[in-house]
Amino acid sequence: MIFEEADRLKTIPPYLFAEIDRVINEKKAKGEDVISLGIGDPDIATPDLIIEELCREAKNPVNHRYPSSYGLKLFKEAAANYYLRRFNVKLDPETEIITIWGSKEGIANIAYTVINPGDMALVPDPGYLVYKLGTLFAGGTYHIMPLRQKDDFLVNLDEIDTGIAKKAKIMHLNYPNNPTSSTCSNSFFEKVSQFANKYNILVCHDNAYSDVYFDPGNKPVSFFNAAESKEVGLEFNSLSKTFNMTGWRIGFAAGNRKVIESLGKYKTNVDSGVFNAVQYAGVEALNNYENLVRPNLEVYRNRRKIIFNTLDKTGIKYYKSDATIYIWAEVPEGHTSKSFSELLLNKANVVVTPGNAFGIFGEGYFRISITLDDAKLEEALERIKKIL
Ligand SMILES: *Cc1c(COP(=O)(O)O)cnc(C)c1O
Repeated sequence: MIFEEADRLKTIPPYLFAEIDRVINEKKAKGEDVISLGIGDPDIATPDLIIEELCREAKNPVNHRYPSSYGLKLFKEAAANYYLRRFNVKLDPETEIITIWGSKEGIANIAYTVINPGDMALVPDPGYLVYKLGTLFAGGTYHIMPLRQKDDFLVNLDEIDTGIAKKAKIMHLNYPNNPTSSTCSNSFFEKVSQFANKYNILVCHDNAYSDVYFDPGNKPVSFFNAAESKEVGLEFNSLSKTFNMTGWRIGFAAGNRKVIESLGKYKTNVDSGVFNAVQYAGVEALNNYENLVRPNLEVYRNRRKIIFNTLDKTGIKYYKSDATIYIWAEVPEGHTSKSFSELLLNKANVVVTPGNAFGIFGEGYFRISITLDDAKLEEALERIKKIL
């Protein structure tokens, strides 16, 4: 057979960091101790309470059969209850919530649910790459919304010209934001909701970091705190970052019931729901989120302090925010994102993510992830300090 992959896979832009990966592998093969600050994947274990519930439910044969593609009723009720406690937003668990295999799956599949070939999505840049790629896979095109530090990395709606706004079907947003760590206020969401209602655009808000914040007086808000947002909105929620459950693959989408129904219709035909035992474990997570996130945030708070102290000493400028597991920092004068990442790798055996990995507006930055134990983190920072 002469294998030729589908054109849609060829639309994936060339991997910019093949060279960095090659060097990492080469160093590791030589037995060098490479420390990665590049990966956004919590290193802390999933809380026992959640694991125990999984074990209990995994033993029940009722759960060994196909789950519903729309999700377990009890999980969706727990999700609705969480929304009420956390955001003061009322949702109908049966019609306004659907279980997903994490935000990533939801974001990719929403493209197939909404985008016709040639349709346009508005995507933040820098941003999580699935917004762009999901759109391309579904045959759509995308228009970049630049995130700039002078605007606190908020999308500037005035910059979107009317023709583009009229053409767009989806707008992807993500606050607290990966990679910039910025947050948004309800007044921003109010403007987005007005904009989306005016131009008939579905707002897909990726809420993956809703519970990774460090200023309890300034908790991240939900898109549904804005007026008339449910008319035009969908919010993707993930248990991954909140409860250290990236490997479990569970989250939920909430919002406009017609969109939820269509997403379910699509999902019925491509997957068969999340293992019910995992959903029961998710119920425990959501019902106890107040207690479960606190210890996580304490660990992260301490790590942030360590990193900020070091960066301050080295003169590296970084964006000061109070959320997410990332630090978004500027590369030193005379460097590009790529050259600085390569310098850190070559001279310090430390991996950071070059900002342009997230889009052209990420150029000039690099991202540090704090999902590394304190000792390793300090070692990595020590090495960075030495070469600067
Ligand atoms: C980690 C991450 C996700 C993926 O979440 P899953 O629920 O594990 O699929 C989605 N969006 C952003 C911005 C993320 O950083």
